[in-house]
Amino acid sequence: MEKYIYVVPIGDILEDLINFLREKLEEIFRLKVKEYTKVPIPKEAYNPKRNQYYSYYFINLLFSLKLNDAIKILGITNVDLYTDNLNFIFGEAILNGKECVISIARLDNKFYGLPPDHTLLKIRALKEAVHELGHTFGLKHCKNPSCVMYFSNSLADTDKKDYNFCPECQLRLYNLF
Ligand SMILES: [Zn+2]
Ligand SMILES: [Zn+2]
Repeated sequence: MEKYIYVVPIGDILEDLINFLREKLEEIFRLKVKEYTKVPIPKEAYNPKRNQYYSYYFINLLFSLKLNDAIKILGITNVDLYTDNLNFIFGEAILNGKECVISIARLDNKFYGLPPDHTLLKIRALKEAVHELGHTFGLKHCKNPSCVMYFSNSLADTDKKDYNFCPECQLRLYNLF
């Protein structure tokens, strides 16, 4: 059975962004990438006190899809995510697992009251997608600030890094395959 990386829109995500990610992720991971039909945002994830969504439910939702031909499953949502002990997260992954999720909420200039920049949003989303998928393949954080596996604490960190792996992480990934 041929295996794929699945990209799952959770809520409304522009088709143009999904297509961009599909194309780029195929190049970077050299695996086929398939889009799954849009799924609704898990309502139970919403925390009204924080006006944010608990990311665990998103990972769980991806797990519940039971995609047998999936090597990895990347969820993309437009709502703001958080997890335990963190104010917000750009994404979360199961280390060495199958599922990961990214949120584009804080990757969007709109969030900071800045003029929209769709190209920049796509690049930022790609960086976070490669980063979280990297974790599912077993990669940990990298100290090289230009490597995609560098931990982004802020959008400035995301903007500074590349959407590719540094040579060392690339080699690690190759060995993990
Ligand atoms: Zn990380
Ligand atoms: Zn690296």
